[in-house]
Amino acid sequence: MSHLSREACLALDEADPLRDRRDLFDLPEGIIYLDGNSLGVLPRAVSARLAQVVAEEWGRGLIRSWNTAGWIDLPVRVGSRIAPLIGAHADEVIACDSTSVNLFKLAAGALALRPDRKVIVTEPGNFPSDLYILQGLSDLRPDLEIRVVPRDLLVQALDDTVALLLLTQVHYKTGEVHDMAALTEGAHAVGALTLWDLSHSTGALPVDLTRAKVDLAVGCGYKYLNGGPGAPSFTYVARRHQEGFRSPLTGWMGHAQPFAFVDDYRPGAGMARLLCGTPQILGMAALEAALSAFDGVDMAVVRDKSIVLGNQFLSLVAERCGGDLVPACPADGRLRGSQICLRHPSGYAIMQALIARGVIGDFRAPDILRFGFTPLYTRHVDVWDAVEHLVQVMSSGAWRDPRFAAVAAVT
Ligand SMILES: *Cc1c(COP(=O)(O)O)cnc(C)c1O
Repeated sequence: MSHLSREACLALDEADPLRDRRDLFDLPEGIIYLDGNSLGVLPRAVSARLAQVVAEEWGRGLIRSWNTAGWIDLPVRVGSRIAPLIGAHADEVIACDSTSVNLFKLAAGALALRPDRKVIVTEPGNFPSDLYILQGLSDLRPDLEIRVVPRDLLVQALDDTVALLLLTQVHYKTGEVHDMAALTEGAHAVGALTLWDLSHSTGALPVDLTRAKVDLAVGCGYKYLNGGPGAPSFTYVARRHQEGFRSPLTGWMGHAQPFAFVDDYRPGAGMARLLCGTPQILGMAALEAALSAFDGVDMAVVRDKSIVLGNQFLSLVAERCGGDLVPACPADGRLRGSQICLRHPSGYAIMQALIARGVIGDFRAPDILRFGFTPLYTRHVDVWDAVEHLVQVMSSGAWRDPRFAAVAAVT
């Protein structure tokens, strides 16, 4: 047996170039947190910053803070800090609204950029909002065809009727990674645009929208970016499309002159037109502070560690847990996001038993246990200890306790 030992994990942590980043996070004692792909851990900088925003900027500054504390510029400022993480120019990204709302804006805007086409291609099993938003859009546009095609047939499904290819780069459930550059090239070859959902990519692996020539993208602020529950999303429109881009949600904050209070809508310059209503300042301030954890971080280093952590988890499970837990993610780390997924018919109860022991992952129906690895704060020894708990839960049958079968509202 060639078990990776706990001592070997401790040695790897000692040599980890990201070792010191963990101190930037307020990790609860006794918890192994493997769910940063769903809700990132609280960065210490956020607590301090939020206390200041509430007490000083809101409490004392009141409405003056829109100008004096720079609140009005937060969407642009936060967007420009996310840009380097996704290979975008600073003026191509803005933070606002939720990922779901931004998907609507970008999908509708893409249709307006391709007025003679009426097909959107996506894949079955995409994240629910990505599919539901398209279904809602087709209620408004009865001529629209939503072509839902399995991933191995996507390229064949592209033809000159297609306006938009909408995909999630890293699959939320299985962690599979699409070849973003190749699929974007395939879409462009037939004159279609691409909209990439980067919710499970941003902050987890290097993304290069410019190199892949992506047209439009959205992503999530509360997963690997650690912006807090319901943090603002971000949206990307390539420079070449900004001039002609029309958001269907023409709120006053996206107007060229919001404080002119005129009756007729005129889109703001560049990404400003993606704004709709008043920015959520507390959430924006939290996200901005959270992003400081990425200052000076090389995403290639993050990616390398993420692959190692995932590979270690997979091989320890294979060696130590018997055959009951079946991997549902690619074995090749390069084809996988920063998560490991295991299938088990009683996956929900097993995850509850793990959570009761302080190992927090999550469950995705119908049968997937999901473990996320966040290289800024997940250690090699956490992987080892988490698998040890899993071994104990499986071998003792502890998960069969009826209290682990009660399904909560949020899984
Ligand atoms: C998390 C996630 C979302 C989240 O959308 P919200 O509007 O923030 O709830 C959207 N798409 C994907 C692929 C996700 O993983």
